[in-house]
Amino acid sequence: MRNQEVKATIRAKAVQHGFALCCVTRPQAGRMHADALQGWVDAGMQGDMGWMAEKSRLQRRMNPSSMLTEASSVITLAMRYTPPAYDLAEASAATVRGVVSAYAHGDDYHEVMKKRLKALAADLDALLGKHDQRVFVDTAPVLEHALAESAGLGWQGKHTLTIHRQLGSWFLLGEIFTTAVIEPDAPAVNHCGSCSACIDVCPTAAIIAPYVVDARLCISYLTIEFDGFIPHALRSLMGNRIYGCDDCQLVCPWNEHAGKGAALEDDLLKPRGENHLPDLVSMLQLDEGSFRLHFRKSPVRRTGRRGLLRNVCIAMGNSGDAGFIPHLTAVLADAEPLIRGHAVWAIGQLASQENRADMLDVIVRMNAAEKNDAVREEISLTMQHIRMNDD
Ligand code: SF4
Ligand code: SF4
Repeated sequence: MRNQEVKATIRAKAVQHGFALCCVTRPQAGRMHADALQGWVDAGMQGDMGWMAEKSRLQRRMNPSSMLTEASSVITLAMRYTPPAYDLAEASAATVRGVVSAYAHGDDYHEVMKKRLKALAADLDALLGKHDQRVFVDTAPVLEHALAESAGLGWQGKHTLTIHRQLGSWFLLGEIFTTAVIEPDAPAVNHCGSCSACIDVCPTAAIIAPYVVDARLCISYLTIEFDGFIPHALRSLMGNRIYGCDDCQLVCPWNEHAGKGAALEDDLLKPRGENHLPDLVSMLQLDEGSFRLHFRKSPVRRTGRRGLLRNVCIAMGNSGDAGFIPHLTAVLADAEPLIRGHAVWAIGQLASQENRADMLDVIVRMNAAEKNDAVREEISLTMQHIRMNDD
């Protein structure tokens, strides 16, 4: 088979396995990407994601060929998911509801994609003869956006995600590394131009420069990867985002073509309606068992109940809706300090806006029983906040 026929056959197979885009590159990261990664880690912008700064993993990330001995080609693939059915204004206005990133409305993409990448890799064996191969979905140290760009799948936008001219950015990436020699595609051309919509809209100013996201400020990192007490200065900026953040994608002009809420005919992640804009009270009432049941097979399991309910407390604190106070009070005795600490903060936000100085009695009682230092600190700051606003 000629090169072009081989590629056309691989693409057709990729489509059969549910991938909308399939391009090929060599297992090399450009100097520019490697330098940018090093600078990002040197500045500590990976936050608590310590594994990203580990020397051996960093080296592997910068040298994709190290992921598979004698790797000759990388096939980069994109699997689409249904974009949010709401725009930014609608999502932020729904203050009794939480916003969950669109990719997390259904099944966990790691599982779904890995199975399909393996099936495609088996087809490659049949097509090209037996070769060594490895498949990756997000978990290994692979510079996936850089590889997608050099394979021509799409360019890395100023928000650092990959964009395709027709499909926008509502897709997830996976890779097959192989020792088979496959003709590479031409690299993608960047079409961000003078646009800065993603930088301008970012609620926490996390895109500190074009193509540089400081993870420590990014709501996706804070709500999913970071498992501690969220810095106070960032809480009010998080609004009602309880799992991830899609703001930079929602405003990107290249996503206008991708269609707001236009459900994919065959979204392999099977989005569930109840996860689009979940009711905050129902989320706060989840116990361990109901959390596991509600988010069965979902990527939201990553935060655990403690992380999700922490985020829900922040969303309630930002809502301006005093109707949440009884629900927050009900979790002040939760076994998890992270939840107690953020619940008391949220009560402080709402009580100070609504002149509910009576909440001080509740918090004083909580303080008497509290043993955890971090929660005691939250209680102390909350009491100061309420008293200050009551003066
Ligand atoms: S995901 Fe949200 S917080 Fe993170 S860079 Fe994009 S807009 Fe900013
Ligand atoms: S919003 Fe504008 S600058 Fe940001 S990624 Fe999209 S096109 Fe590029």
